[in-house]
Amino acid sequence: MILVQDQLKDQSEVRIDIEDRGYQFGDGVYEVVRIYNGQYFGMDEHLERLERSAKEIHMTLPYPIELLKTRLEKLAEANDINDGHVYLQITRGVAERTHQFPAEPTPFLVAYARKSPRPENKMREGITAITTEDIRWLRCDIKSLNLLGNVLGKQKAMDAKCDESIFIRSNDIVTEGSSTNVYILKDGEIFTHPANNFILNGITRRVVLELAEEAGITVHEKTFNKQELMDADEVIISSTTMEVTPVISIDGKQVGTGVPGKVARTLQEKFNERIDKLQSVKN
Ligand code: PMP
Repeated sequence: MILVQDQLKDQSEVRIDIEDRGYQFGDGVYEVVRIYNGQYFGMDEHLERLERSAKEIHMTLPYPIELLKTRLEKLAEANDINDGHVYLQITRGVAERTHQFPAEPTPFLVAYARKSPRPENKMREGITAITTEDIRWLRCDIKSLNLLGNVLGKQKAMDAKCDESIFIRSNDIVTEGSSTNVYILKDGEIFTHPANNFILNGITRRVVLELAEEAGITVHEKTFNKQELMDADEVIISSTTMEVTPVISIDGKQVGTGVPGKVARTLQEKFNERIDKLQSVKN
């Protein structure tokens, strides 16, 4: 079953109009929310960000966020998801193709739930990355359906047989990964790009900052450049799907000693404790 507007439907019943503005312009916003042990992780924060993204593109949600929350609970239940995620998108709806907004937009919401395992191997062994120019627009804080810059970045990493692209703006500042936030550790302190228009303020990022504080690690929401990235003692990425994952090499050069570092391990342990605290609805 999938969620279409506020109704659960069989996927075969659903047709997407070729004039949906999401399809033609990428005119819409989205979220991905993780489900652990039958429970959503950070749902309120994801929905708040969804509301903000919509507002920033002058789009109203098709119905109130509280109702959406209950519908998403039903969606996870109907699909019997224990470990997985929900993908949710809202477009500006169907209208004759003109760039400007339609006079009376009819926002269109679709969400589906999938079973998906946690990336255990990558989290344990670490991932490899390349650096590449951040060619995206200047509103990366909006979780918009327009992901071409991210898509091209990720593909470049795949072509190089790596897992992730770390983006660097033309001013030499490291912003984030193609689908992750990026942190460096230097002399026991964490640095990560401030949450402004150059990055998506990840829900996992907010958790990581809390966990670091709990662990007594100083965090600076402060920019760093490519050289500082390459000289870091540890590099870590985070996202809803990748959780907290160490980066062990960048552009073919090993990070630190080339194995996952102590701070990455500490944050992972603390992240697991957060997940363990979620009570299963099924128990
Ligand atoms: N930055 C970008 C560009 C992303 O696509 C994502 C994944 N949504 C993130 C950061 C991490 O965000 P979150 O922790 O909310 O998944």
